[in-house]
Amino acid sequence: MSHVSIEQRVDRLHAGGVIDMHFDLPMDLYEKRGRSNVLATEFLPEFEAGGMGIIGAAIYIEDQYLPERGLQVALGQIARLYTEAEQSKRCVVCRTHEEISRALDSKKIGFLITMEGVEPLGDDLDLLRAFYELGVRTIGLTHARTNAAGHGGIFAASGSSPEGLTPFGRDLVRECEKLGVIVDLAHINPAATTKPLIVSHTNSRKFYDVERNISDEQIKMIGQRRGVIGVNSVLVSPKQETSTLDCYVDHIQHIADLIGIDCVGIGFDFFEFIYRQWPESKKKWMAEKLTTPHFIPDLTNHSHARNLTRKLIERGFGDDDIERLLRGNWLRVFKELL
Ligand SMILES: [Zn+2]
Repeated sequence: MSHVSIEQRVDRLHAGGVIDMHFDLPMDLYEKRGRSNVLATEFLPEFEAGGMGIIGAAIYIEDQYLPERGLQVALGQIARLYTEAEQSKRCVVCRTHEEISRALDSKKIGFLITMEGVEPLGDDLDLLRAFYELGVRTIGLTHARTNAAGHGGIFAASGSSPEGLTPFGRDLVRECEKLGVIVDLAHINPAATTKPLIVSHTNSRKFYDVERNISDEQIKMIGQRRGVIGVNSVLVSPKQETSTLDCYVDHIQHIADLIGIDCVGIGFDFFEFIYRQWPESKKKWMAEKLTTPHFIPDLTNHSHARNLTRKLIERGFGDDDIERLLRGNWLRVFKELL
């Protein structure tokens, strides 16, 4: 196939918009809250270059704000997201499947607000309803930390807490299902016993064996529920040299081999833009406490999304399968649950 025809094929595959279910955008917007048009100037060009359609915008509270300021910072992050989306004139916050479809049809970039770790709720179940009203539609109960809902999966091959969810965590899952909030099992500890629905951003332990990633058994559980697993770009391999686009596609292939291509999606978790703003001391803290992220050189931000599609073509994926991976599978879940 000629270079031109491959580029045309990528154009066609991206025309409906790519869906990435995990991006730590709100925390960066919040840290830069003294400025305006951060989204339009620092992120929108990359979203446009990558042909992005829907992005899971993750509320995440850094340790420095916990426990006292978790709720306040979460509200601040959501507020910044709405304000910045409006200023950008191209982005919009979506709450329903209909709003998602409308955003894609009108070539806007839609945000689905997600929450990574329920620290902002403390142990107050009522606050879930408040965040639902603010637009939160996906909730991951824990990050690597322990909170009132449960214990996260750690960045090592063993050693996570033997307990999964607490009684409060179980109540939260039930309440999420009642309200119409998607339960996200990213960072879940293997001992958790809820039925899985989606994992917005993770990798297979076959290639990178840490408990923060998921085992074949967990992948099969998600397949049984016809959920979707978003493949993460920063935990594909324990080594930098083998953290490549091909390895990213190996994860896609492995999950598809186990549970079918209908259950695989994108959860890039592009984090390099935050990491590079950190002082060395904070990078060292992360390496010791969690892990050192390995960025894939040609898959580091949203402008690189086309590189993935090119690689999928090169690896022999058909157009129908690529469209499902880039968008269709997530849309199926949104249609069912939102
Ligand atoms: Zn995460």
